[in-house]
Amino acid sequence: SLGSSLIGSMYILDEPSIGLHSHDTQKLIGVLRSLQAEGNTLIVVEHDEEIMEAADQLVDLGPMAGRNGGEIVFQGNHAELLSQNESLTAKYLTGRLSIPVPQNRRKVRNKILMHKVEKNNLRGFDVIFPLNMLCVVTGVSGSGKTTLVKDLLYPRLKRRIEQREGHQASDGVVSGDLSQVAQIEYVNQNPIGKSSRSNPVTYVKAFDNMRSLLSSQPLAQQRRYKASHFSFNVSGGRCDNCEGEGDVKVEMQFMADIFLKCELCSGKRYKDEVLEVLFDEKSIYDILEMTIDEALEFFGSHRNNNECTRIVQKLQPLQDVGLGYLKLGQSSNTLSGGEAQRIKLASFLVKGQNEAPTLFIFDEPTTGLHFHDIHKLLIAMNALIELGHSVIVIEHNMDVIKCADWVIDLGPGGGVNGGNLVFSGTPEELARCEESLTGKYLGPKLNPVTAES
Ligand SMILES: [Zn+2]
Repeated sequence: SLGSSLIGSMYILDEPSIGLHSHDTQKLIGVLRSLQAEGNTLIVVEHDEEIMEAADQLVDLGPMAGRNGGEIVFQGNHAELLSQNESLTAKYLTGRLSIPVPQNRRKVRNKILMHKVEKNNLRGFDVIFPLNMLCVVTGVSGSGKTTLVKDLLYPRLKRRIEQREGHQASDGVVSGDLSQVAQIEYVNQNPIGKSSRSNPVTYVKAFDNMRSLLSSQPLAQQRRYKASHFSFNVSGGRCDNCEGEGDVKVEMQFMADIFLKCELCSGKRYKDEVLEVLFDEKSIYDILEMTIDEALEFFGSHRNNNECTRIVQKLQPLQDVGLGYLKLGQSSNTLSGGEAQRIKLASFLVKGQNEAPTLFIFDEPTTGLHFHDIHKLLIAMNALIELGHSVIVIEHNMDVIKCADWVIDLGPGGGVNGGNLVFSGTPEELARCEESLTGKYLGPKLNPVTAES
């Protein structure tokens, strides 16, 4: 409909910049502007810096996420936003807060090589993926990034790794320091679980500690409750009417099913007697209702309790990746793709300390993220690298590219105009590469001009 010449229409666009390189974003802004000039109204939900700058009117919500958000922090034009003190968005746009450019880039030591990369529009080049660092694969839309990483590197390297474990497979394309990679994980935005029974705490396995903590309380001991009494997955302590779901599905003939709060437990998921067991005045239901931020404060105040210490260790990475606003018991099926991807990242941070060297591939992890969350995401990825792992990111976000140790830029254009290896090396070298469209947009990010200077 963006191509039609309707006038007097209102268009609502939800994150139209997703998956767009800066070069494509400029084209998108041109299309939006021409629609407006024809007499239409456009409302855009967006985090993209360039689109914000192009807007006539900005409405900034926050100040933070979840329970700590929900207010209009600012409304006005871009220049007025920049003078705001309260808005986190304004702090990043003016450079008062910023994602710092790393002082040092990690040096290439171990690496994976791919010879004659040829598939779809990829033109048969050789490429290296350095290990134990943040390697970003970029390029305009359609340049071949996904084909290179998801369709070629991931399956071929995985096959090579599995072959070492006795499987029969042969592929001559991948070589290099293969012994330095014990596992490969492709981290996408698919849900962490479709059931209402999985949630952030079950995913990072902190719920096991919470259940055993409650079962060790005097009242639970006296009643001979086991940890399983505090589970909503098995019968015993959970509400029998809703089987621990908290709500009951009502099947409507010819219509979508509806969910009603369980009348027996009032949505609390457990039997009353189980809810009588308290740890520091909190029942299992009260705990599941806490946000991750609140839970860290609550369990963190019990320093001498081993279970509490373990719970804090497992929840901390969720806060580190910017998910402190989620409720512990929030069903996975209500999480966005970006939230699911960050929960996966947090779970790797929990178990990453004991894992064999792993190569993590993230497919556009900044989709839907505000600057503030991108900053946290980068800190979390660097933590994985410091634990001895490797990270490859498919990304167009300039703040991620500027923080890379190594950039692989494909293009120069998309489709038939793409498929070449335009550049590989450090961000500073990329900014000087004249053939690269990414380099053109990266330069200003490496030498930011702040509002104060
Ligand atoms: Zn119930």
